[in-house]
Amino acid sequence: MRNVSVTDMIHVLDTDTAPMDVLRAIAQSGVQENAFYVLDIGDIVHKHSEWKMKMPRVEPFYAVKCNDSQLVLATLAALGTGFDCASKTEIAKVMDLGVDGSRIIFANPAKMASHIRYAASQDVNTMTFDNECELYKVKQMHPNARMVLRIRCDATVAQCQLGMKFGCDPLVEAPRLLKLAAALGVTVVGVSFHVGSGCQDPPVFRRAISAARDLFDLGGQLGFSMSLLDIGGGYPGNRGSSIDQISEVVNAALDDYFPISLGVQIIAEPGRFYVASAYTLATLIHSKRDTMYYINDGVYGSFNCILYDHAVVKAIPLENKGGKPLLSSVWGPTCDGLDQVLDSVLLPPLDIGDWLVFEDMGAYTLPVASTFNGFPVPKVHAVIDESVWRFLKGCLPLTEDHFIAQNNNWTSVWDIPSPEQSTPSSPSPSPYIYELMA
Ligand SMILES: *Cc1c(COP(=O)(O)O)cnc(C)c1O
Repeated sequence: MRNVSVTDMIHVLDTDTAPMDVLRAIAQSGVQENAFYVLDIGDIVHKHSEWKMKMPRVEPFYAVKCNDSQLVLATLAALGTGFDCASKTEIAKVMDLGVDGSRIIFANPAKMASHIRYAASQDVNTMTFDNECELYKVKQMHPNARMVLRIRCDATVAQCQLGMKFGCDPLVEAPRLLKLAAALGVTVVGVSFHVGSGCQDPPVFRRAISAARDLFDLGGQLGFSMSLLDIGGGYPGNRGSSIDQISEVVNAALDDYFPISLGVQIIAEPGRFYVASAYTLATLIHSKRDTMYYINDGVYGSFNCILYDHAVVKAIPLENKGGKPLLSSVWGPTCDGLDQVLDSVLLPPLDIGDWLVFEDMGAYTLPVASTFNGFPVPKVHAVIDESVWRFLKGCLPLTEDHFIAQNNNWTSVWDIPSPEQSTPSSPSPSPYIYELMA
């Protein structure tokens, strides 16, 4: 009996099959009408090795809010990352996978009382703060807390700025807060910052690490044992992007300000880096008006990233049908005029039934998507390359049950949406298609 639901299973692909083949097979099956994702678990595993190689001193604590899919979290737990959680529910979700409280940082500087008490009850002790009130709350509700002071140091260019909401001024406020913590008897263990999500200003990391150094010195003078530096998120994750520039700046700054000999633990909270490129979205053109194309996912679904994450998306026709490119627009399925995915983009002439593919859709998309106007959130079909599967399959919390290893017949479609409904005499469910057109 499997204890993993079919939608949380990962399909193992033989060496001749790529994730894009799966996307094509589902799109062209003739029965798929809803938008869907293909999630390449191998891409997440490759990202992790890239991180380890390029920033060996920095332990990643994945930012759960970026994409809280059970499969993503289980994969990262299997790889041994830590987790950045912002709420009681995120903490519970990660701990359900067997992750220990010591591998979680509660990185929300403004926490609700019940969430602090919950963290205390679960031995999640490492938490951030950037204001006075938080110290009083924590003193009362979580005496074992190990507090990390979040300072503000903004990238000059970032996809999403965070500094206007979180992070105290490192020169004036931060010293005052350290002194107050000392007076209250609240334990401070380190400093954190977030330069902004989608950071395009690599040198900002040096400025921030240097500011953290000064506060480590002050903390030491106040009697704290300063042992944790958290360099936050901000690393790019799309195809073709690279963390080379940021990692060079970070590694050099760490060597200068926090040499290995000091024994300070260095962590980061990458979100989009790990998941952006792992997800590819396939959408169907179900209606058209001249060169206005209506697809089955929009800004109230996956493309909320256009509004909230300031994402710029690119439509790629699944079939290269030729024809002179025309100035076109792409619209979501709801009846709201705001629901536009692309405004004036060059596309070859397309027809109803054609598919548009969007890459790099893993970050800040699914967790925010709604079913507004009755349109479902796209399902996710997870795949993994055979060689990566061999490496990952024994790593808890992933078990044999998470993988569908038989890769035969995957282009055919059976009318069985879930294993519960299958009887021993019927064929096993299609490896890839969980939902069929009504
Ligand atoms: C959102 C967030 C992150 C992740 O940021 P990315 O830019 O996706 O890497 C990390 N830390 C905190 C505190 C966050 O709020």
